[in-house]
Amino acid sequence: MAAVSEGTRSRSAAILGAARRVVVKIGSALLVDSATGQLRVEWLEGLAADIAALRERGRDVMLVSSGSIALGRRVLSLGDGPLPLEASQAAAAVGQIRLAQAYESVLAPHGITTAQVLLTLEDSENRRRYLNSRRTFETLLELGVVPIVNENDTVATDEIRYGDNDRLAAQVAGMAGADVLVLLSDVDGLHTADPRVDPGARLLEVVEAVTPEIEAMAGGVGSALSRGGMRTKLMAAKVANRAGCAMAIVRGDASRPLTALSEGAPSTWFLAKGDPAAARKRWISGMRPRGRLIVDAGAAAALARGSSLLPAGVTEVEGKFSRGDPVDIVDAEGRVVARGLAGYDVGEARAIMGHRSDRIAELLGHPGRAALVHRDDMAI
Ligand code: GLU
Repeated sequence: MAAVSEGTRSRSAAILGAARRVVVKIGSALLVDSATGQLRVEWLEGLAADIAALRERGRDVMLVSSGSIALGRRVLSLGDGPLPLEASQAAAAVGQIRLAQAYESVLAPHGITTAQVLLTLEDSENRRRYLNSRRTFETLLELGVVPIVNENDTVATDEIRYGDNDRLAAQVAGMAGADVLVLLSDVDGLHTADPRVDPGARLLEVVEAVTPEIEAMAGGVGSALSRGGMRTKLMAAKVANRAGCAMAIVRGDASRPLTALSEGAPSTWFLAKGDPAAARKRWISGMRPRGRLIVDAGAAAALARGSSLLPAGVTEVEGKFSRGDPVDIVDAEGRVVARGLAGYDVGEARAIMGHRSDRIAELLGHPGRAALVHRDDMAI
């Protein structure tokens, strides 16, 4: 290991120590032995021990793991060269089941329940699906589960792919309101130049903002197994930081990679301004409302105390909006008291307004969520 700087050690320890919700991205090159195509089980066991330690300290942990294609292509004897899209999708389908199984088998001995979540780009771009995924993550984490996320490579065609799990991990971190994202990689972090060609290249230990100068330092492609190079990592940093989430790049090949990071392994930290909740509120307040929910005095007071908006407190619904669209919440005097993302579309909102939440299923003919606007989706 390269020399550990005191600054890096205390920075990493402080950021990880204060984190509440951590997303760890694991690249294919760490997980799958490039010579044999086999899973590196021992390494995975070390990672599992680190995850268990975080869980014991009460942290929520989510993993975004690559490796489905790398594993599946071996099983199918598809060789080492580039694969046509259909072949990589078939490989992903075969590999993903093994990947999920591998995590399950190393985490279960620690008493950790895992869940598999496969996402496509549309799940973060379409607001309705975004909200659904977000709620599901929240519920899984509340139940103490460690979600294992990958791109749904089998159905994602080129136009709707992330294509690299660095950016997927950053989206997941934003979606789930994580405050730390760790990219376990095959490099120490971001250097001032490509260290493979420039012996004078220096590791940047901390990046306050991804400026064009910083972007110019990122080289080109990644390793033979993984898709992401430094460029996608910087894109990930921007997405994460904007969502109030700090991001680290660190070599993942230590036997306890997260312990190594917190003990000062060389790394680059990209710092966020503010926390995830503040970033989310900023994002919501900046949206253009598609409708208005008029609420009674009781509901307005409850919102001010930090509650969700229940349908019972709504007296009128105006505008044209779908689930996930921004709406203004307005009191009887016409004052905007909050802006939030609607949990129902306009027709459903009209059908349930003024009613208690336990009547939603009967009124809509299908079960629904208790809140018309959830407090996490609201800026006062
Ligand atoms: N989703 C791809 C896989 O699991 C990996 C993408 C990447 O390497 O970033 O194989």
